[in-house]
Amino acid sequence: MATIFSKIINKEIPSDMVYQDEYVTAFRDIEPQAPVHILIVPNKEIPTVNDIQEDDEQLVGKMFTAARKIAADEGVAADGYRLLINCNQHGGQEVFHLHMHLFGGRPLGPMLLNR
Ligand code: AMP
Repeated sequence: MATIFSKIINKEIPSDMVYQDEYVTAFRDIEPQAPVHILIVPNKEIPTVNDIQEDDEQLVGKMFTAARKIAADEGVAADGYRLLINCNQHGGQEVFHLHMHLFGGRPLGPMLLNR
C-alpha cells in the first residue's frame, strides 16, 4: 500500500515540502503543470477517493483547509486556482496515495481539454 508519497511524508526521500501538520503534507509536484503546482496529501495511506471512509471526513476537510492556507501563502488565492483529484484509470491516477493537486499562477483554461 505504501507509495513514494509515504516516503516523502516521512522525509525518507527529499521533496520541496511547503506544509505539514499531523494530518496532511503538501509538496511541489516534481513535474509542474502550472507556475504553482502543489500536491496535498493525507498523512494516512488512503489509496483513492473510492477508499475514503466516513471516519476520514475530518481528514478530508483538513486537505481543503490546507489548500486554502497554501493558496494564500503562494499568492494565488485572489486570482484563483484549481483543485483536482484523479481517481483510478479513467481519472488518470498514477500514484495510489490520495492527493489533491493545487494548480495556480496563470489562467488555467478549460477544465477538460479533450471532451
Ligand atoms: P496523479 O496522476 O493524480 O496520480 O498525479 C501524480 C503526481 O505526482 C504527478 O503530477 C507527478 O508529477 C507527481 N509526482 C510523482 N512523483 C513525485 C515526487 N517524487 N515528488 C513530487 N511529485 C511527484
